[in-house]
Amino acid sequence: MDKWKFYTSNEIKPAGWLRRQLEIQAEGLSGNLHRVWPDIRDSKWIGGGREGWERVPYWLDGFIPLACLLEDEEMISTAKRYVDAILAMQEDDGWICPCSKSKRKFYDTWAVQLITKTLKVYYDCSGDERIPDVLSRILKNYYELLRDGEIRLFGWAKYRWFETFLALNFLDERFGEDWIRDLAQILKDRGFDYGSAVGSWEKPRRLWRRKTHIVNLAMMLKSEAVSHDLLGEGYADEAERFRRILDRYNGTAFEGFTGDEVLAGLDPTRGTELCAVVEQMFSYELLFAHTGENRWAEKLEALAFNALPATLDEDMRTHQYVQMVNQIACQKTTPFTPFGTNGPEAHLFGLEPNFGCCTANFNQGWPKLALAAFLHDGNTIISSVMLPCVLKDQGVTIRLETEYPFRNRARYLINTDRAFSFMVRIPSFAKNVVVNGTEMKNEDLRFEIRPGRTEISVGFDTVPVLLPRPNGLFALRVGSLLFSVPVGYDKIPHEYTKRGVERKYPYCDYQLVPKSDWNYAFADTDFTVSYADISDHPFSQSHPPVTVRAEMQKIDWGLKFPFRTVCRKTPKSQTPVSPAEEIALIPYGCAKLRMTEMPKI
Ligand SMILES: [Zn+2]
Repeated sequence: MDKWKFYTSNEIKPAGWLRRQLEIQAEGLSGNLHRVWPDIRDSKWIGGGREGWERVPYWLDGFIPLACLLEDEEMISTAKRYVDAILAMQEDDGWICPCSKSKRKFYDTWAVQLITKTLKVYYDCSGDERIPDVLSRILKNYYELLRDGEIRLFGWAKYRWFETFLALNFLDERFGEDWIRDLAQILKDRGFDYGSAVGSWEKPRRLWRRKTHIVNLAMMLKSEAVSHDLLGEGYADEAERFRRILDRYNGTAFEGFTGDEVLAGLDPTRGTELCAVVEQMFSYELLFAHTGENRWAEKLEALAFNALPATLDEDMRTHQYVQMVNQIACQKTTPFTPFGTNGPEAHLFGLEPNFGCCTANFNQGWPKLALAAFLHDGNTIISSVMLPCVLKDQGVTIRLETEYPFRNRARYLINTDRAFSFMVRIPSFAKNVVVNGTEMKNEDLRFEIRPGRTEISVGFDTVPVLLPRPNGLFALRVGSLLFSVPVGYDKIPHEYTKRGVERKYPYCDYQLVPKSDWNYAFADTDFTVSYADISDHPFSQSHPPVTVRAEMQKIDWGLKFPFRTVCRKTPKSQTPVSPAEEIALIPYGCAKLRMTEMPKI
């Protein structure tokens, strides 16, 4: 049983900087993908001839909650149009994917699993009562085909079997039929056992394998949490065991893993795929709700406030396939690639650099984070991630005013006609927690709220910390935010057409060519934090909402052979080659070109 439950987009409404971020997403690629990208516009899912597998379900998985959170009528009707077309495709036996009966045997049923996850999201947002029956028919048919050996679990479906459980758990709660548990067991038995792959995570190799595939691993972290109840198994916190091993051998400063696109070790110039960032966030949202453990929410914040905004341009029109922690340029490195099995343009900002999965899948990142702001259980409401929003839950309204993570203050304005218990999660890095003017212990806050109006003001301090990283490097972190030396750049657009897909301004490719120095080291451990207004683009390199001034000195970093636009994994020399200068470091999520892991001299 999940410890806490999620609210829906009817109950949580974004405000402040979060609302603005979602509006940018809607005005950017997410809200226009069905106009500009043939794989969504003309997909087989809606009767066209283009991709009929993961791309439409991926996109809808983010587009639907985005539309509902913003209460955007045009987007809501677009979502409904897509869902109606998909439902109309369902065959008499329950099969719903755009694949003829004779070809089902060869169809990777990852798309069956994914469309059930997406339709569950649609149900949560719309309450459309057609969905439970549609889901039941899809999965009962899936069960019968697998049981009778008419199809096999292979390819991505074998490695992502647990994704089916989001819909299966819902169906079990609603219908409780025996076949649901039987299908759960078949999926677990025939699906890949990640426990058998641990050894391959310890020695990352440039060999494309599904068991070291970064997106599979990001998804896999939630597998035990979503499946063990239905399977009648206990909970052993496998996610923590797996995460620790992945982190030890492939961890990044933003609490993710390198994977370009298989695990890539501890080099801050290797890539992390965008799909893995949003999938890891979703895993941590579910793990926090399932266990109530603070550590998962803190890791969620680290990814959401650093890795996600860093790899999307500030207008959210373009994205990278992979981001690098030390990223001094985003320029093609042809003919060689700095990435394991990804091409030399995977770190460009564009419509679908390297491959189009992230173009469809990135959409879920911000909307699902917004939906994780508050959780509930019985008569308890939990403030899980401090995000500006309004919660409406059966006679309770909570307006959360905050500029977190850019400031460490929050004001809860509560108006309720019923009594309830209220919990505010306090991150472990918080110091000097003050509530309504009174100093408190640094731990989660609990309140018994009575009917009427209540106001709770929470504030705490965060201090700059130089986190030791592998290879003798350090990263500066203040609360959930990582800070980087920003590198100035020229943005060079490139319009072209490839495989029938037009890259046209503003959804074309961009190379970022550096025009300021990047070869720095930390020269002191005194840091000064200063604040500015949050601009119209919360994660802007030119107007960062918070900066940290630090004494830095240049060193001879050197370039990684044979590249002219990739820095070395570690500096060639740590001897200063310039006097100390004061540099304003900015949030990692704001810095499109940046140095994050640097030595201390
Ligand atoms: Zn991807």
